[in-house]
Amino acid sequence: DAERLEDEIRRMDGASYGRYRSLGGDWDFGGFTLTVERVQADPFAPPSRLLVRIPADTAGLPGHAWLDPVRRRATADHLARRARRVLKGTRSRIDAGGQQVIDRSSCQIREGGIHLRLGVELPGHGRRVDARGAVRELCGTVPDLVDAVVWEALDAAEATAFADVVEDAVALRARLAGLGLVAFVADGAVLPRASGVSDLPMRGAVPFASPESLRVTVSLPHRGEVTGMGIPEGVTLIVGGGFHGKSTLLHALERGVYEHVPGDGRELVATRSDAVKIRAEEGRRVERTDVSAFVRNLPTGADTRDFSTDNASGSTSQAANIAEAIEAGTSVLLVDEDTTATNLMVRDARMQELVHGDREPLTPFVDLVRPLRRDHGVSTVLVMGASGDYFDVADHVVMLDAYRARDVTEQARTLAAPRRDAGFPAPAHRVADPASVDDTARGRSRIKRRDMDVLTFGETDIDLRHIAQLVDPAQVVGLGLALRLLARERLLDGRRTVAEALDLLDARLDAEGVTCLGGGHPGDYAFVRRQEVAAALNRLRTLEVRD
Ligand code: ADP
Ligand code: MG
Repeated sequence: DAERLEDEIRRMDGASYGRYRSLGGDWDFGGFTLTVERVQADPFAPPSRLLVRIPADTAGLPGHAWLDPVRRRATADHLARRARRVLKGTRSRIDAGGQQVIDRSSCQIREGGIHLRLGVELPGHGRRVDARGAVRELCGTVPDLVDAVVWEALDAAEATAFADVVEDAVALRARLAGLGLVAFVADGAVLPRASGVSDLPMRGAVPFASPESLRVTVSLPHRGEVTGMGIPEGVTLIVGGGFHGKSTLLHALERGVYEHVPGDGRELVATRSDAVKIRAEEGRRVERTDVSAFVRNLPTGADTRDFSTDNASGSTSQAANIAEAIEAGTSVLLVDEDTTATNLMVRDARMQELVHGDREPLTPFVDLVRPLRRDHGVSTVLVMGASGDYFDVADHVVMLDAYRARDVTEQARTLAAPRRDAGFPAPAHRVADPASVDDTARGRSRIKRRDMDVLTFGETDIDLRHIAQLVDPAQVVGLGLALRLLARERLLDGRRTVAEALDLLDARLDAEGVTCLGGGHPGDYAFVRRQEVAAALNRLRTLEVRD
């Protein structure tokens, strides 16, 4: 078929651009199959979409590279990165990862075969077919890519090392609960990044070193024994002067729900997979969420067990974020003073003198972290350099001093005072109206992303800027597809709670991998956790919750 494809393209040279459409379908190249899945309407439209399927006997992947689901994901991720390098300087592109290793639609391994999804800008002279250019791309670049990817797959050493690193990180995370930990930061880890806009490691950074009292040794399948700081379940406070590395540590913990590529510096930073970063998010919408643990007796008289607003304040948005994280399912909250609403975090004695309990609708988080742990099993890791109030409730206090961690729990304890215990009512489990989760716009599905900030879902835009644990643009599309699946396939059926629907989604993702989200979507997408799916659902401005 390769020659037939070349002939076909040459025959359309100079014809109107729309003739490219006749290339749609399968082309058997012998060692692989090229499927032209979608052809752009003109040279300026989004790229055409290709699927390249390399069967197992050509791919020659050794069993250890793909039989296990973790290694399969790692190998696919590695091959996508290789493919991206090969395609540099061509008209074709493949979606591949940043510093995290995430299941993505652009490269999948099936029964030992490799599936690659590419975007290609079919060349035109104005609005006419440029046959030479198209032949070069489809009959040159694509077979070259297949050669390079297959060669890489066979070049076992690098791919194996990559998968080993990923497998170790997964194993480390799996050990946390059994060790009574919410996170682990290996000695020697490099936490700071090159800059505020780069996720690459900082050069010359002070490597992480664990304080002896929190040091834990873990045995991993490939690296063997590693030591590092284990952050125990409970309430852990991270203190220290400004600029001493507190937020950097917390950011690393946020990202610790993902695996990182070799050389990243955070390969052996692992956080419980359900950990959620909490922050204030003024202006967000809230749909019938129970924020009564934090907010009571509003001057408006609103019932805060069933609280809605189109424009939340800093404190109510943060309260809703916590309630919704618990509803979606989490065992760890990650909180940084830099991005919280102060009045929800602390209230000092003098302010309590001046503004009495019945005038102040807010219960500060400091009175709720212990009940959260006791009543709901939710631990908290909190960065707080500005107030000692949290000494009263912390199980562990870690001080960062010029980027070095010290255990200062004992000193902090001598400064602690008894505190009242507020109690934390179980947040309500809501039932969403599936009709209010609609991806159609003008009769067609519309799921699009604007950078990492906005997901266009049907007729509405979802603001994702403050969902801290989204790390990859393809995840934005993944979120849209997950919402669509929830509604269209009736996981949200008007009776199940949001959490129950997310359980079903998890089961699908577990069994089928990320491509269960696809449903004919032409673009690239990547895995998203249920916590981010819930976050997107809760920010959907059309969402309606039933009684
Ligand atoms: P804090 O939250 O305590 O004010 P940050 O975490 O924001 O401090 O860190 C302050 C600066 O120090 C940042 O520019 C960060 O990149 C840098 N930094 C953090 N950790 C390290 C480290 N281990 N080695 C070198 N620089 C670091
Ligand atoms: Mg900070």
